[in-house]
This record gives sequence, structure tokens and C-alpha cells, in this order.
Amino acid sequence: MSSTIGEHRYPLMFSPLKLPFTTLKNRIIMGSMHTGLEDVEGGIDRMAVFFAERAKGGVGMIITGGISPNEEGGMGGSGSKLATTEEVAQHRKITTAVHNAANNVKICMQILHAGAQAGTKSPVAPSAVKSRVAASTPSALDDLGIEKQLNDFANCAARAQDAGYDGVEIIGSAGYLLSAFMVAKTNLRNDNWGGVWSNRMRFPVEVVRRVRAAVRNDFIVIFRVPAMDMLEQGMSREEVLELAKTIVSEGVNIISTHFTWHEARVPTIATMVPRAAFASVTGRLKEALNVPVITSNRINMPEVAEQVLRDGNADLISMARPMLADAELVNKARSGREDEINTCIACNQACLDHTFTGRMTSCLVNPRACNETLLEYKTVEQPKNIAVVGAGPAGLSLSVIAAQRGHKVTLIEQTEMIGGQFNLAKQIPGKEEFSETIRYFNRMIEVLNINLHLGTVASKQYLQSMAFDEVIIATGIKPRTLDLPGIEHPMVVSYIDVITGKVPVGKRVAIIGAGGIGFDVATLLAHAGTSPSQDIEVFAREWGIDFDKHPRGGVTGVEPSVLKADREIYLLQRKSTPVGMGLGKSTGWTHRIALRQRDVNMINNVEYLKIDDEGLHLLVADQPQTLAVDNIVVCAGQESLRGLYDELSKGDVSTHLIGGAYEAAELDAKLAIDQASRLAAVL
Ligand code: NAP
Ligand code: SF4
Repeated sequence: MSSTIGEHRYPLMFSPLKLPFTTLKNRIIMGSMHTGLEDVEGGIDRMAVFFAERAKGGVGMIITGGISPNEEGGMGGSGSKLATTEEVAQHRKITTAVHNAANNVKICMQILHAGAQAGTKSPVAPSAVKSRVAASTPSALDDLGIEKQLNDFANCAARAQDAGYDGVEIIGSAGYLLSAFMVAKTNLRNDNWGGVWSNRMRFPVEVVRRVRAAVRNDFIVIFRVPAMDMLEQGMSREEVLELAKTIVSEGVNIISTHFTWHEARVPTIATMVPRAAFASVTGRLKEALNVPVITSNRINMPEVAEQVLRDGNADLISMARPMLADAELVNKARSGREDEINTCIACNQACLDHTFTGRMTSCLVNPRACNETLLEYKTVEQPKNIAVVGAGPAGLSLSVIAAQRGHKVTLIEQTEMIGGQFNLAKQIPGKEEFSETIRYFNRMIEVLNINLHLGTVASKQYLQSMAFDEVIIATGIKPRTLDLPGIEHPMVVSYIDVITGKVPVGKRVAIIGAGGIGFDVATLLAHAGTSPSQDIEVFAREWGIDFDKHPRGGVTGVEPSVLKADREIYLLQRKSTPVGMGLGKSTGWTHRIALRQRDVNMINNVEYLKIDDEGLHLLVADQPQTLAVDNIVVCAGQESLRGLYDELSKGDVSTHLIGGAYEAAELDAKLAIDQASRLAAVL
């Protein structure tokens, strides 16, 4: 059989991997990710469809979200456990769907015992040490309790085998039960299971031993090691290596590498993390082991995966979020259509931010993720003639999905480029990935023959005269203007002009409004030199990571350092809550730390009084102050641009309003794309 373009372009990625008893058809694994489907009524059926679509999309192996071996280790919810015969029958639906969906695709179930981080009433752990990210203090396991946990792991693995899984992945990282045994500060025991390293390692090794004994020889056992846990006084490099070698000698077939505890204060998957930043850590481990090794984190495109493999840093590449963003990523790469990949931009807004706040996971750029049975883009029998006004995220999403369904789409944009607010986002240091979404849409406009008119103002007369069946208004927003004495002063500038570089900004700057855009502007103005997301060394310095020497946790004793812009910046908000509390759960803290490191003054509880030649006059906690600044950047939210909709909706044309034009207070790409996708599905 002749090779495809993609197989020539990515020869390593598409090379099979032989295990002693089976072969993986390529090097791309869909990595484990808790979606929330595990925890809802009917979630197993939805998971079956969700994973089957990814299997069809070309991955070599899938690893499910974490499933607990017992009640006490669960993240909460009903479906996230595998311990009984009834649960085996449920899981069989997933394995059957995946195995039927594509040839030779493997699926392994991740066994996750959350330990101190469990969402159950009675969490257990090696010691009664409360996790910073947990609600309650766990009970310390006694000998009987430890024996029960070990048996439950073995039982769970055997049940997974009965359910038709090809293997299991045991998670031994992230602060969950196994890793809590290994780290001294969460294991305060002085019996055989605690104290010196050889005792702290005993529990995970025993788990592997019991699991291996409970399953067939040809059942894949993967273990996820805390390769660099990012914890002060976390695991040392030598301990990681000894753990890996020992569990391999006990029958682990594949080592997977993980780079964080949930407690850690280093971003490891946010968009500010450089692509493949941690692969070299996996590479060092790989050199010392004689089994295949998986790497992960911020590997979101085929060329990144191929480079990691070419560098010899891993045998297999795990992609979790990229498979939410585009189920067909692997097949698109194989057929040389990588420019059609809807790339994961690592924003976390619809995936991890949802997971950490108890909501169902989805994806900002692909709202169908985890909604496969609820949001279907069916081919239409009677194509319509659809006009879309505005080529921001909402208008673009609607156009692409409607065209994919078979409609004829005309997209009209008054500026000379598509992308809307994403053109601003991509300028911010650490948010460069947003340009991938614009690339995706540009390509899909070509592929789907969408009739794009740039630099064109869509008038009511034009739209009415063209006999469109549907008109979609996605005209977006305009920045809010403030009713403040002196707001017309030349020192006052809009965030759009600042981000696009249209106006120069002085050395002393006040930013009015500390929402997402205020943080973006502060980030842009406070950064000097290379963006950390574009350079692994700059990133490592900023977050105090030593990849080479690998002290305990990778971070112990390493002082973070940043290159600061020569600017005095004030980021202001009226609310009395801490500045930045409204940002995303999984990334807000990274933005706050990054600005603090750059000496940005974040001030809450302010009341703006006036602007004049002296600067910005305000009250801070009722005390008058004047900020003698050169510029004031207004980032105080937006107002909808919906005039065209108001004009048209009075006529006969079927007209819809979406995105920021629909609700500026909710101007948010996640909501805009979600709303557009849902409308496009029913047009
Ligand atoms: P925003 O989040 O609504 O924040 C604007 C801030 O301006 C408000 O938090 C408000 O805070 C202040 N404000 C509102 N009206 C004001 C007035 N009349 N006078 C003075 N201050 C006023 O809006 P945004 O920052 O423009 O962001 C827009 C959207 O983009 C958001 O939905 C956000 O999710 C999204 N976004 C997200 C990110 C991200 O990192 N995830 C980044 C960029 C944009 P106070 O009243 O307390 O001062
Ligand atoms: Fe990636 Fe953002 Fe989608 Fe999550 S929500 S999968 S981070 S693009």
C-alpha cells in the first residue's frame, strides 16, 4: 500500500509501535481527561460515542478519564467507579463502540484513586494531610485499609479486562493517592509504607504487582509517573528513575510522564506554556528505560509531535485537549490536511475551567466535544442561502458549520481580515495560539467555498435585495465609553489601539477595568523581551524551573526571574474583591502571578473621579489619590453592535443575532462560538 502525504511528512508519528504482545498502529494517544461524562446519568452512552469519534479520527490508542477502583477514591458522581459486574457491563459499551469504530485501535482505562483529593465523604490517604485543593482532611489508612486499596486496584484492573479494555493506565501522579505515598510532606508515616524513600515507593510498586497478577500477560499496563511534580520538596530525579525502573521490572509495559500536582504553582498546560516544554524531561527518563515512554503537555499539532519523536524524547505522544478540539486530528495529518485541524489553543476555558467548577467539559473551539449525541451537524436536504455579517469567532463558527452541513454561505466582514477579537488576543504574550484558530477558519473558508467579502459593509438594502433565506448578524461589539469628567483627554486611549500598536503608550500607565482584557493589556505592556510561551528557557526562568539539574520537583530552591518592561502600571477595578478573581479557575492564578512578578500595581476598591493634565484622580478605599500617568487605557467592557439586526428584524428576512452583538456583557469567545454552533446545527 502506498503511503499518504502525511505518512511522508510525519514518518515517525505514523510508524507502528511494537509491544511484546501487540502493536500500536501509530504514535498518537488520546490522553486521559476527566470530562464529567463519567458522572452524569447516561454518561457512559455519551462517552461511548465521544470515544468512538476519536477512534474513527485515527488515534492509535485512547486512555479514558480516571475511573476509581472504589467508593473512597472517586472524584464524585455515579459512573466514575469500576468495581462491580454491573459496572463492567456499562464499560463494555465504551470498549465495544471504540473497537467497532476503527481497525486496531486500543482503549485503556485509567485507574484513578484520588486519595486526599477525592470528592467523596470519606477520603483516605497515607496520612491525614489536607490537600490545598480538597474540601476535607482525609483519614490516614491503617494496614487493613491499605490492603483493601491494593485489592481494589487489582479488582478494578481485572474488571477492566472483563469489560474489553486493552489495558489500564494507573495514575501515580498529580497528588492523587499513589503520589501522596511517594512525597514526604504528604506521607508522614513511620511504618513500612512511609519514612525512607524505599518505604514511600512501596505502595505504588505493590499496586503494580497486584494489578499485573490480576490480568493477562497481553493486557497493557501503563503507569503515569510524576516525572517532574513541580512541588517544593517534591520527588527527586533519582526517585522518579528508581520508581520507573522498579515498576517496569514488576510488569509495567509503558511509562507515561506527568508534570504536575494540582497543588503546584507552575503552569504546565496553560496557553502561556511553550509547546512541548516538558518533553526533554521524558527524554531523559526514556534513555534509562527499556520500555516505551509517553510524553504530553502542550503538544497540539502534528509537527510538534513529530519533532518530539525526532528529538528522541518519547516513543508515544499523548494529546488530550487537542482531541477535544478536533476528533479528526490524526486523520487530517495523515491526509496532509493539517491546516484543517481545529487546534487546541490551551485556553482551558471550556475544558479544565469547567472540570474544576463541576461543569461538563467541552471545548471553546469545538462545542460538540462531549456533546456528540446532543449537538449534531447533519447534512441538509435542502440547502439554504445564508448571509453572515461579521467574521469574528461567532460569525466564523456559524459560517463553517452551516457550510459543512451543505448550506451556501456568504460571509461579509467590514474590516480587511477575519478573526475579530482573536486578532487582539493573538498579540498578547502567551496567547499566540489564538492565531491557529484564525488559520483554521481561513482554511475552512477556502475548503468549503464560503463566499467571503472583506472590507464590505453589509447594508439593510443589500441584505434584503439578495433573497437570503437566513441572515445572521454577528457584528460584535464596540468598547464601552465611560461617563467620566476628562474622558476626552488625549492621554486616554482604547485597548484596541493599544493592542494593535496604533498608539504609543508611555512609561506610566493606568488601566481602567481588570477583566480579561485589562489583564491582557497589562500583560502586553509589562512584558519585555521574548514571550515566555515562545522560548522554553525564558518560561523556565519565569516560573523557577530547572529542567537540567532537576532538583526536587524541578523547582526546589530555584528563584523565578523575569525581564520587566520599563513601565509603571496600575491595573484598577471598582469591585472590592481581589483583582483578577473573575478570570478562569485554572489559569487566573497564572496571570495574577505573572503580573505581580512584573510589579504591576493591582488595586481594587477604587472610585474614578476625573482625568486632567495631572493624571487620573480617584479614591482608593475612600482615600483620594492622583495617578500621574502618561496614558489611561480603558478596558471597561463592551457594548453590543446590533443596529443592523434591529433594522432587519422588522422586515421579512429571517434574521438571527449571535455573539457579542447579542450580549456584550457576556462577550466571551466560548459563549459566542457555542451559541453560533447551536444555531448552525438547526438552520
Ligand atoms: P469584562 O470582563 O466585563 O471586564 C470589564 C471590567 O471593567 C469589569 O470587570 C468592570 O470591573 C469594569 N467596568 C465595567 N463597567 C465600567 C464602568 N462603567 N466604569 C469603569 N469600569 C467599568 O470585560 P473585558 O475585560 O473587556 O472582557 C470581555 C470578555 O472577554 C470577558 O467575557 C472575558 O471572558 C473575555 N476575555 C477573557 C480573557 C481570559 O483571559 N480568559 C481575556 C480577554 C477577554 P469593575 O466595575 O469592578 O471595575
Ligand atoms: Fe483546548 Fe481551550 Fe478547547 Fe480546552 S477549551 S480543549 S484548552 S481549545
